[in-house]
Amino acid sequence: MSHATKIFQKSFTLQEPIPESAIAKAVEVMRSGRLHRYNVDPGEKGETALLEEEYASYMGMKYCLACASCGSAMYLALKSVGVQPGDTVLCNAFTLAPVPGMIENANANIALVEIGDDYTIDLDDLERKARIPSVKWFLISHMRGHIANMDRVISICKENGLVLIEDCAHTMGAMWDGRKSGSFGLVGCFSTQTYKHMNSGEGGLLVTNDAQVMARAILYSGSYMLYDKHTSRPDIDVFEQYKLLTPNYSCRMDNLRAALLRPQLINLDRQCQRWNDRYQLLEKLLNQIPCISCPPRDPKEGYVGSSIQFNLVGFDELRVLRFLAENEKRGVYLKWFGSTDPVGYTSTYQSWQYFKELPDLPETNRILSTLCDMRIPLTFELDDCRLIAEIIAEVAAEISS
Ligand SMILES: *Cc1c(COP(=O)(O)O)cnc(C)c1O
Repeated sequence: MSHATKIFQKSFTLQEPIPESAIAKAVEVMRSGRLHRYNVDPGEKGETALLEEEYASYMGMKYCLACASCGSAMYLALKSVGVQPGDTVLCNAFTLAPVPGMIENANANIALVEIGDDYTIDLDDLERKARIPSVKWFLISHMRGHIANMDRVISICKENGLVLIEDCAHTMGAMWDGRKSGSFGLVGCFSTQTYKHMNSGEGGLLVTNDAQVMARAILYSGSYMLYDKHTSRPDIDVFEQYKLLTPNYSCRMDNLRAALLRPQLINLDRQCQRWNDRYQLLEKLLNQIPCISCPPRDPKEGYVGSSIQFNLVGFDELRVLRFLAENEKRGVYLKWFGSTDPVGYTSTYQSWQYFKELPDLPETNRILSTLCDMRIPLTFELDDCRLIAEIIAEVAAEISS
């Protein structure tokens, strides 16, 4: 080769720093010593309560509860809507390990649903499984930010009496047909873990318009009978019927994390646009590579491209492994969902064997077998995205020749 091999130097796991205003607020909270959310004066609103008000307002929802993680928010959601031990919860098969983990934590069974070529839930398979009379619950996971046709999801839920919970770990700030992801279900759950759209290390947010569900979620989250200190909540009377019947699962957020998040929320929509600038450039360049196919996206999907996925068309396992290894040598770290051995964040449904009866899902297997996944941290500039696409194109050409 006449030209030098291109190498990408930046880290795929490096997020932007926490904004200075958030750091200043966090230092203020630390100086006060009052980190626990209920450590406030009578009538005073702490950072956590303020974050809840602000996130509910951002979402256009009545109530928000700040939690320890998105996983704990999903667990509280399942319990608060009334999932009982032994119940079955539908879920798309392409999702992250905490999702089945929380279904198991609620002592429920999982019924996995196939995905389609756009990586969202297969709506025909959903419809078939939703018709089973004993099935009442549906936890949809907008995995890696891919949003299914929510018009059809909602009509399938209505026709079959399914209660919908949304896992929006990758759709914070995203929309379907102009409506915020997380506002379609009875409950929406979000993550503020470092690799999601706002960063407090760990953290989660739960939203709902339902007074009963919210009262139960606050009690389950561990409110020590101090639920009156929440300002994003239903009337105090709603808590009466549940307060002695609801265990405390200790899933709260603290004022320090909330202080880190409030300034980030103000900037969220702008950050989402920056992700999409990068995503759309990468999508255009990657789709020009013959063996690469990025999924089609519905024009109604107002996604946030904080990561990108694509399939290696016609590749078998050996070629996929060579492709990944060659990219890695040049500094481009891709994850692969087709590995039989779960690594890092890419466990697939076959590795959730704590569930007794895992189905075989041929369509999902086919799609995952060549599915690659790449983070797009905002520390990458557009030129970085161009270089990454050039490297991937070179590797693809080498492998195909
Ligand atoms: C990260 C993630 C979660 C869990 O979020 P935590 O805050 O880490 O519990 C759930 N679902 C999906 C799709 C995720 O990517």
